[in-house]
Amino acid sequence: MAVTLDAQLLEILACPSPDHAPLTPGTPDDPAADALTCTSCGRTYPVRDGIPVLLLDEATPPTNGEPDTDSPDDSSSDGA
Ligand SMILES: [Zn+2]
Repeated sequence: MAVTLDAQLLEILACPSPDHAPLTPGTPDDPAADALTCTSCGRTYPVRDGIPVLLLDEATPPTNGEPDTDSPDDSSSDGA
């Protein structure tokens, strides 16, 4: 079941991390998941009983291999 949060509620919710970025429903893996994903740091927050748990402690760090500024490894395969 997808998260059914008010658009208004979503607007006032923000990531508890210093980025304070807006959240988007679902996860990158599953847009219908009961979770909210930060649009900046990519952390995923669970939604329990319709209540978003916006705690860094409860957040799932992004696992999509999208390092922000970790290692500037520019091994982009251009595909000539
Ligand atoms: Zn964030």
